[in-house]
Amino acid sequence: MSSVAKEWREIPGRYNLEGSKCPCCGKIFFPKRNMCPICRRESLNNMEDHDICRDGTVYSYSIVYDAPSFADKLKPYAVVMVETDDGVKISAQLVDVDIDEVRIGMRVTAVLRKISSDGPGGIIRYGYKFVPLD
Ligand SMILES: [Zn+2]
Repeated sequence: MSSVAKEWREIPGRYNLEGSKCPCCGKIFFPKRNMCPICRRESLNNMEDHDICRDGTVYSYSIVYDAPSFADKLKPYAVVMVETDDGVKISAQLVDVDIDEVRIGMRVTAVLRKISSDGPGGIIRYGYKFVPLD
């Protein structure tokens, strides 16, 4: 438990899923982009910043049995495609769940978690992962 608490203390205070909203058609994109593929020139460099809703529903998933070496101690693990409540599809790892319990339609929320570190004292990278929503 102490290592988990330490990990959370190292997490930056503010965290958002930053996306873009098209000022013309209102469509939301993640990650950020500088142009809407529908409105094109009309939207170029006019895209508005938009914080993506963290809550969503599992749209599809796959269980990964083979992974790069840094993920060895994690596998097998679930990678989910989530449709957020504002309609954006985001793919990320689903954690804090038994892989047998992963289901399409499951409610999840995005959290910031450690992705990898370059060994003891090295740079720790954070990224979003999904956890089940109670
Ligand atoms: Zn648009």
